Amino acid sequence: MDTFQEATNAEETLDPPDWAEVGALSHRILDDAIAYLKDVRDRPVWRGMPAEVRAFFGAPLPRSPAPAADVYDDVARNLMPYPMGNVHPRFWSWYMGSSNFTGALGDFLAAIQGSNLGGGNHAAGLMDSQVVNWMKEMVGFPTSASGTLVSGGSMANIIGLTVARNVKAGVDVRERGVGAIPRPLRYYASDQVHSCHRKAMELLGLGNRALRRIPTDAGLRIDIAALKAAIAEDRAAGFKPACVIGTAGTVNTGAVDDLQALASVAGEEDLWFHVDGCIGALIAVAPESRSLVAGIERADSIALDPHKWLHAPFEAGCALVRDASAHRNTFAVTPEYLESTPRGLASGEWLHDYGLQTSRGFRALKIWMALKEHGVEKFGRLIDQNIAQARYLTGLIEAEPALELMAPTTINIVCFRHRLDGASEERLKVFNTEIMLRLQEEGTAALSDTTVQGRHCLRVAIANHRTRRSDLDLLVAEMLRLGREVEAATPA
Ligand SMILES: *Cc1c(COP(=O)(O)O)cnc(C)c1O
Repeated sequence: MDTFQEATNAEETLDPPDWAEVGALSHRILDDAIAYLKDVRDRPVWRGMPAEVRAFFGAPLPRSPAPAADVYDDVARNLMPYPMGNVHPRFWSWYMGSSNFTGALGDFLAAIQGSNLGGGNHAAGLMDSQVVNWMKEMVGFPTSASGTLVSGGSMANIIGLTVARNVKAGVDVRERGVGAIPRPLRYYASDQVHSCHRKAMELLGLGNRALRRIPTDAGLRIDIAALKAAIAEDRAAGFKPACVIGTAGTVNTGAVDDLQALASVAGEEDLWFHVDGCIGALIAVAPESRSLVAGIERADSIALDPHKWLHAPFEAGCALVRDASAHRNTFAVTPEYLESTPRGLASGEWLHDYGLQTSRGFRALKIWMALKEHGVEKFGRLIDQNIAQARYLTGLIEAEPALELMAPTTINIVCFRHRLDGASEERLKVFNTEIMLRLQEEGTAALSDTTVQGRHCLRVAIANHRTRRSDLDLLVAEMLRLGREVEAATPA
């Protein structure tokens, strides 16, 4: 054999030697996946992992090959039975969507097509822009606005807050840095603001203290009078009030700030108006509830989260900015190796000019396919359905003397706890935490907990298209049973 032939024979690829075999395995994986979701209700929400499963994930770097079927068997045995549980109908912890099968197919096809959404002239780029346009339409933003799909709400908020900083800095902050800002910028949000904003302030170089937490009213919405007072105080002290963040659906209780009032304050005070709509922006498409977020269309920027109430498989967030050029001016850079060409692959828009990533995943496809399949009206009805379910659960709690509602229910988040006669706040916390942990460990339901107005409570966030009212009946029944059990086991 000549050396050319030898070299050719030695060339390797990741493609399988036998595509038919891969086809058979793929069909088996697909059948298993369909069964997995079809039967999700019959499995526990969550279960602890046995020691051998934990040990499995300590195995060292594989050096030699294994058949793909064996690799899948490892996954089927050690991974699939131990999910976080958010695809289950009784998962209500923290705040996340419950995914959907079509979206999962979208993720698969996105990986098969393999495009990098940093930009360029190809169909995935057009689809990415189309999905951003659909998001604008959903929240009532003008077509002239811009936007970008990102990893999630945290990143979407960083995008909005960064544009706000650069627009309000009074200097070219991209060239000169935050040290050159003449008057220190101040941002404002309610004391219920999500923790990602703190990270954003730190990252932006403005510092956590530049984000003033404004007190909230009894409904846990930002107190507008207190906001105005804080702005006036800061101006008098030589700061530059730059941005107000309204929250459409707080993570603690689902409170929705008065977005109309905030838009007006921002207008009067010349502030950037950013809305953290990770939970609630999409209420704008829910026919029964959309008035709750009226005013969101007046924002300068919005963060929203398709992996929450659109149930996109993780990850998918979206930042929208009314002033497209302000958005682009914040992030665009054109290095010599990424210059556009008049025709061909590099003639499309560089989508990486709207955010921090250069390479970008093809997040749009999973959102696009699910929206096309169901239509936005169904997603709106599902949002209303979750809000109605939260109201239903609130009614059950109010009718049950052993349970106590801990915050007003505005949207799909219910804060409550089990009562315990004469118990201190500390004992109530221990008692309720124990109930929550037993619900998880028995695989019945996943709740989380928080502290509202200084009092510990359990928290049910229903962003779940699989939840039924009977699941909430079961939750209440199980909480009462566990309440008796835990009380008996731990007398005062
Ligand atoms: C979830 C959430 C975030 C963060 O979004 P991620 O997608 O988890 O990064 C920010 N703000 C609010 C109000 C949220 O609920």
